[in-house]
Amino acid sequence: MIAAAARSVPFFDYRRMFAPEEDELVAIFRDVGRRGAFILQQDVARFEANLADFLGARRALGVGNATDGLLMALRATGVGNGAEVIFSTHTMVATAAAIHFAGATPVPVECGADHLIDPAAVEAAITPRTRAIVPTQLNGRTSDMDALGAIAAKRGLAIVEDAAQALGSKFKERRAGTCGAAAAISFFPAKVLGCLGDGGAVITGNDAIFEKMCQLRDHGRSADGEIVSWGLNSRLDNLQAAILDYRLKKYPAAIERRRAIARIYRAALEHVGEIRLPPGPDGDADHFDVYQNYEIEAERRDALREFLKSRGVGTTVQWGGKLVHQWERLELRASLPSSEAMIARSLLLPMNTAISDDDACYVAACMREFYR
Ligand SMILES: *Cc1c(COP(=O)(O)O)cnc(C)c1O
Repeated sequence: MIAAAARSVPFFDYRRMFAPEEDELVAIFRDVGRRGAFILQQDVARFEANLADFLGARRALGVGNATDGLLMALRATGVGNGAEVIFSTHTMVATAAAIHFAGATPVPVECGADHLIDPAAVEAAITPRTRAIVPTQLNGRTSDMDALGAIAAKRGLAIVEDAAQALGSKFKERRAGTCGAAAAISFFPAKVLGCLGDGGAVITGNDAIFEKMCQLRDHGRSADGEIVSWGLNSRLDNLQAAILDYRLKKYPAAIERRRAIARIYRAALEHVGEIRLPPGPDGDADHFDVYQNYEIEAERRDALREFLKSRGVGTTVQWGGKLVHQWERLELRASLPSSEAMIARSLLLPMNTAISDDDACYVAACMREFYR
């Protein structure tokens, strides 16, 4: 085989979030600026309506970021002081921080073979104080919501989804964000649908939860302007909403692009015995994955990373390489050996819409070279 020409495939190039759409984005900024439409204007309302449509959800609400969104979703769902909330330790610290600031105790559990929360581990962690489960719809994949839904129904628990990474992903035709009482989505620039800064949304099918989240995001204000509860200030910027509304129209194509890259990785790497790939895009009728990340497990992970770096390929390890319960100063004190073994082998390959077919083939060729 002829070695592919050396090239550079950065893990994520933030300039690519702007350059290809520079003219359109500047036009949006000019339009919003000339209208003086900065806070909670029609662009936020329009994006919320289009996002709810896209998800087949009853209500969507633009908020400052997904971390605040999760906090608001938990509080609006009635999770508060003294409660325990179960989450997968393989998530961003933000999931646990939201639970903490809601006044509850975060209870980390193991993830399963597909890296998402393990329903059996959830069931085993339930105590009389448990009030909710927060499944992280990780890497653009939706958890087994049949299994989690059955546990929640049997034990009287709420499900609040951390769908920060999963806009558009589905489990059996149910989209991430619409499977529980409420959910949060992130529009951080590197997320599947990113804006040019921080942004997020909360989703719910429940009008009472929606009203409560509306108040929480805007100083406790009700629709008629009265202050009716203690609130936060966590609104989606109107400018970011205008940008997101523009990008949402092109989002189905972005999902297909990510799935195409996943197909290339799978075809080129599935026979390499030293690595385990994430589930393939065509492998399982119950899941539709949008590949926020392409997370593999690799033998000699750190040496592989160094080798790929020397070949111009950027990779990363999620969460800075530590699961939530491994940040000792947060004092969550758990032993979760299966997830701990997983994160020591975990590696994210480049996965975003700027990656060409040739880039993906080059990354795979470098990996095969390393293990040869
Ligand atoms: C990015 C992320 C968050 C936080 O989203 P922000 O919008 O940055 O607050 C929460 N959970 C997961 C799983 C994430 O990946």
